[in-house]
Amino acid sequence: MIEIKNISKWYGNFQVLKNCSVNVEKGEVVVVCGPSGSGKSTLIKTVNALEPFQQGEIIVDGISVGDPKTDLPKLRSRVGMVFQHFELFPHLSIRENLVLAQMKVLGRGREEAEERGLKLLDRVGLLKHADKFPGQMSGGQQQRVAIARALAMDPVCMLFDEPTSALDPEMINEVLDVMVNLAKEGMTMMVVTHEMGFARKVADRVIFMDAGEIIENLPGQEFFNAP
Ligand code: ADP
Ligand code: ADP
Repeated sequence: MIEIKNISKWYGNFQVLKNCSVNVEKGEVVVVCGPSGSGKSTLIKTVNALEPFQQGEIIVDGISVGDPKTDLPKLRSRVGMVFQHFELFPHLSIRENLVLAQMKVLGRGREEAEERGLKLLDRVGLLKHADKFPGQMSGGQQQRVAIARALAMDPVCMLFDEPTSALDPEMINEVLDVMVNLAKEGMTMMVVTHEMGFARKVADRVIFMDAGEIIENLPGQEFFNAP
């Protein structure tokens, strides 16, 4: 589903990604961990072309990410992404946040987009908050809306970039629970996180990065049972 082949990326003379390769099969959950600044966020953002790269190749669901002819809005609708800081539109209600991209990028009509969006909002347990604004909700709730918004686009895979690290501790589990359910339902996921309890529960594979390099790439069981 996601093939990252020998990716390298530089900022000027600084090499942020060094010949990174990862294969994520359909339905697999890959957890990316490693120290701060090791390139985790940059690596997953190459997958939906938020970060360009100079060498290598990435194929997502048959789409070549580096190809200049690739339709980026379409690619980004296929690859859902959830960031550390929710990234909801603050001036739009939750309902409008959920429908906007579906209408703009997928060309859905309002009725269909609302139906899809509210169904996903219900799934993350927030249906009754549809007419609130992001600022009226907790961080954990906003992050669940962000997940619902990405899912409303019917993505083939989901990327998560430290989705709980900006949250108060008591809100972390409500977001992780949504992600665990998604994993169990068979969503293909790449997750940058320091939450090792979560990783132990759902990771089919764990990647450990250091200084731009993938230094471990192991099945979850092996990673956690290593001596
Ligand atoms: P991680 O997610 O592992 O914390 P990042 O992918 O965010 O790491 O960053 C990797 C490295 O790239 C860091 O050293 C960071 O300072 C550097 N970096 C990130 N963005 C830029 C940029 N726009 N210009 C230069 N260096 C950057
Ligand atoms: P992180 O979650 O790693 O802290 P951010 O969510 O703040 O990262 O976003 C990092 C970078 O990605 C920023 O430069 C931001 O402008 C860019 N970005 C975020 N969302 C989008 C988007 N939908 N389209 C294009 N660029 C985006």
